[in-house]
Amino acid sequence: MMKKKAAVLGSTGSVGTQVLDVCEKLGAEVVFIAAHSNIGLIAEQIKKYKPKYCAVTDINAANRLDNMISGETKLIKGYDEMCRAVYDLDCDVVFNAVSGKNGLFPTLSVIRSGKTLALANKESMVLAGPIVNAEAKKHNAAILPVDSEHCAIFQCLKGGKKSEVKRILLTASGGPFFGYTFDQLESVTLEQTMKHPTWNMGKKITVDSATLANKGLEIIEAMHLFDVPYDKIKVLIHRQSIVHSMVEYNDNSVIAQLAVPDMRHPGQYALTYPDRCEAVIDELDLTKYTLTFNEPDTNAFKMLALAKECAKAGGIMPCVYNAANEAAADMFLRKLIGFNDIYRICDKVLSKTENRALTDTEQIIEYDKRSRELAYSYKE
Ligand code: NDP
Ligand code: MG
Repeated sequence: MMKKKAAVLGSTGSVGTQVLDVCEKLGAEVVFIAAHSNIGLIAEQIKKYKPKYCAVTDINAANRLDNMISGETKLIKGYDEMCRAVYDLDCDVVFNAVSGKNGLFPTLSVIRSGKTLALANKESMVLAGPIVNAEAKKHNAAILPVDSEHCAIFQCLKGGKKSEVKRILLTASGGPFFGYTFDQLESVTLEQTMKHPTWNMGKKITVDSATLANKGLEIIEAMHLFDVPYDKIKVLIHRQSIVHSMVEYNDNSVIAQLAVPDMRHPGQYALTYPDRCEAVIDELDLTKYTLTFNEPDTNAFKMLALAKECAKAGGIMPCVYNAANEAAADMFLRKLIGFNDIYRICDKVLSKTENRALTDTEQIIEYDKRSRELAYSYKE
């Protein structure tokens, strides 16, 4: 592989650390890292990767880090400053592995600078898919999906023409509560929720994988990444997380992408794209698995049903869904509410919201804030 220059935003997170590992193993140069406040790990990363720039968005943490580091790395303090620096940056690919709605503005900065965006932050697409796509087109910027399912779909779409696509089969592990009824879900604990069967991920997305809100967000993400309507995206529960998603063509031929469940594959694919190279991840031994597929149970996993409604409604509803879910997942992680309250709270927030056409990022921020506040106010 040609030696590439990469930037990693959200470098201290679950995806960010795995992307850094891929960069190291494949000999890419890490020129920029960014995170919010985990300065212990950031200091280690600066020492190890010697990036030209490091952005820390929490100002207090940034000031503390200033006293901890020496050397060539230039420290950038604050969120807006991070976005500006990313815009000005000279590199081949920017990984956005920031969590939550704060991923949106870095996404826009990368795209407006015409650089290639390797996107793990699904919220960018959920909140502002049409805006992100319009900007990407205008500035001729490529978006390479790093969410494992979307990276799979991206690869499967190379199997035919866009006009020949019948539907997308989006796989979901089903999480730790596969087979539970809504009543049984009522009493599940935080500890049970955090034990994901196949993936080791950040805390918030682990909760989303248990409620299937993650799959709901991924439907909306896929609609915008691949320009397909919501009713052409079908969710399939696939317990083994080996088939990362599929594309069905009009001749009923289904193209699938398989690999061991390891986020470093989508990271590697985006880093080396359009080429492939020797693997960072383990080889897949298919004799070790029995692959199964099931219909999702939307009566039990009502967050998936809610997401489908939001995907259909479009406008500001996906933003409201995401914000209410981020707040509710946060309350669940702090043991303030029960598992099914996540759904109840999101349902209430959505039913209190009148949909609007998407206009601009100011509107998104306003609805995001309002929906979060509403969600927190419903804490029992
Ligand atoms: P984590 O919570 O593990 O990490 C989040 C990262 O974002 C941390 O580096 C954090 O810094 C940083 N961060 C948070 N807020 C800001 C901010 N305002 N400005 C700059 N950096 C910030 O999350 P994950 O790695 O699990 O997820 C990241 C994204 O990738 C999410 O959108 C998620 O949905 C998506 N994703 C994750 C997958 C996974 O396997 N984990 C799989 C597919 C998609 P700090 O540590 O300093 O707080
Ligand atoms: Mg995913």
